[in-house]
Amino acid sequence: MSSIKSPERIIPTEEKNITEKRTLYLVGTPIGNLSDITERAKKVLSEVDFIAAEDTRASGKLLAYYGIKKPLISYFEHNKRERGEVIVNRIIENGESCALITDAGMPAISDPGEDIVRLCAEKGVTVSVVPGPCAAVSALAMSGLFTAKFLFEGFLPTAKSDRREALDSLRDQTRTIIFYEAPHKLKRTLADLLEAFGDRKISLCRELTKINEEVIRTTISGAIAYYEEREPRGEYVLIMEGASKEELKAHAFWADMSVEEHVEHYLSEGMGKNDAIKAVARDRDVAKSEIYNQVMIK
Ligand code: SAM
Repeated sequence: MSSIKSPERIIPTEEKNITEKRTLYLVGTPIGNLSDITERAKKVLSEVDFIAAEDTRASGKLLAYYGIKKPLISYFEHNKRERGEVIVNRIIENGESCALITDAGMPAISDPGEDIVRLCAEKGVTVSVVPGPCAAVSALAMSGLFTAKFLFEGFLPTAKSDRREALDSLRDQTRTIIFYEAPHKLKRTLADLLEAFGDRKISLCRELTKINEEVIRTTISGAIAYYEEREPRGEYVLIMEGASKEELKAHAFWADMSVEEHVEHYLSEGMGKNDAIKAVARDRDVAKSEIYNQVMIK
């Protein structure tokens, strides 16, 4: 018999209107504009037994703005192990419900929320989501770049070798790439992006939903020039275009081979002539007949 529990049945037309006990709620909160909160977020925040927050002072002000008074417990990067256990034990042992809110946006996206969700999953605690704004998705939508396929990279590592490794791993990524960045690190990051990827298109989405909301749709070198004249301020999401077909070709193992050498490479791997020609045509994104004529005529 399988030990996997059958998933909760989801009835799309039925709304989850009751704030359940023994549940951790992930509640999305505004990324700047206090009006960007859902009715359900306010309801759940008012009805849970307690709220876990990354910054209890900032969240206290946010809750006061909505007229919500609840016991707050801090849960942040440097206490998440010990506090995660405390929160989950209160849910299991006391049967309480808890709402997790982070400094801004959707909990568990580039913040310690992901750890407590994992802990809940391990301990069989129900997690329910109250969706709200997410800086990454909001910026992507505003970027003017290709949005159908994207990769969320979040914050790049600060240590030099880890950062190099992360950037190298993205070199041949064709999807649009999303980075989070703090203003004081922006200039270094732009320089590193230029070095790693060349002068690609980039959209810098700053202070979204706030008075100084700004989207700069430019190239990496254009962004560097822009910030030579002013200091970066506020919170940023960087949306960078992925690798082009030309870039992929330039990085390919066969980039410096002639067509004959390229076919020879596949033959030496044991492929038949026809398959080798097909593989070369696929790599170079040209018709098979073009490769065939070139190899056979000689
Ligand atoms: N969980 C949040 C989310 O996904 O919406 C993100 C938390 S992460 C710790 C904070 C980062 O999100 C900031 O450094 C910035 O890169 C981005 N961010 C948050 N609010 C923003 C805003 N209003 N405008 C632009 N970027 C924002």
